[in-house]
Amino acid sequence: MNTVGFIGLGIMGGPMADNLLRAGFAVVGYDLAEDSLKRLEAAGGRVGATVAETIAGADVVITMLPDSPHVEEVALGPGGILENAGEGLLYIDMSTIRPDTSLRVAEAAAAKGVRVLDAPVSGGEKGAVDGTLSIMAGGEADAFEAARQVFDVLGTTVVHVGPAGSGQTVKAANQLVVGGTYALIAEAIVLLEKSGVDAHRGLDVLAGGLAGSRILELKRTTMINRQFKPGFRIDLHHKDMGIALAAAREAGVALPVTGVIAQLIAAARAQGHGSLDHSALLKVIERIND
Ligand code: NAD
Repeated sequence: MNTVGFIGLGIMGGPMADNLLRAGFAVVGYDLAEDSLKRLEAAGGRVGATVAETIAGADVVITMLPDSPHVEEVALGPGGILENAGEGLLYIDMSTIRPDTSLRVAEAAAAKGVRVLDAPVSGGEKGAVDGTLSIMAGGEADAFEAARQVFDVLGTTVVHVGPAGSGQTVKAANQLVVGGTYALIAEAIVLLEKSGVDAHRGLDVLAGGLAGSRILELKRTTMINRQFKPGFRIDLHHKDMGIALAAAREAGVALPVTGVIAQLIAAARAQGHGSLDHSALLKVIERIND
């Protein structure tokens, strides 16, 4: 595999494409935003004018798009990936979308003889920049093996979690844990501050004990300092909680804590914080207490 078509060069896709270029792949990119394309060219990539041009000559195409409708349009729509896929193309969707959409894409791809994986990621912008993402892939084992070369550039924890759609189910589980962790760290900060205890020192202790987490490690200082530049936007986490609740309904299970977290994230959005980092959940907990 030498040439990667990369569609969706935003906060995550941009640095992922950079890493592929640095690893020696040729990258042809496509995005609706002009500045993303300029960035790719500056890093040594080539810009495709259309999806068809982007995947012509590519061994593998990656999509890193916001949500299910974007993936449906780019993968299944007119002028999209499946319509233009050449012999032997491997299609890896790394966006976070609904598991049932991934299944639909997998079925349509199989009908066209295109190998496909749903391979969402965790690790945030930093993981994308550092090439240390966790990648959870759903699909056929041979497609996973073929994708390994690309995954090893982008991530450090790379797991084939099961058949088509299961990557997205694992990601939904990931997002409810991340959302819940942010909500509880926000509550801890409010408790500490309202009690007159220094939150920096308090969370330093938590980070070193059983309550420690990667989120506490990376985000406690910016949260306490009320710096909410994204990162991962509240709008996207709101989307992901919808995916988690839909997946729960599909599986016939009740996830009561996930329901509460989903409502807190919806409140952050309703309060106008949709484009802030998801750590801005702190604003909701603060407002409840003002
Ligand atoms: P983003 O909004 O920064 O990037 C998405 C890019 O897709 C944008 O540049 C946009 O112009 C482009 N785009 C939208 N529609 C398009 C279309 N039809 N054709 C071509 N390009 C199109 O989002 P992001 O933060 O990079 O997230 C991408 C995906 O990764 C989402 O599903 C998100 O949930 C997931 N994710 C994000 C993070 C994070 O920390 N940001 C972490 C893990 C997973």
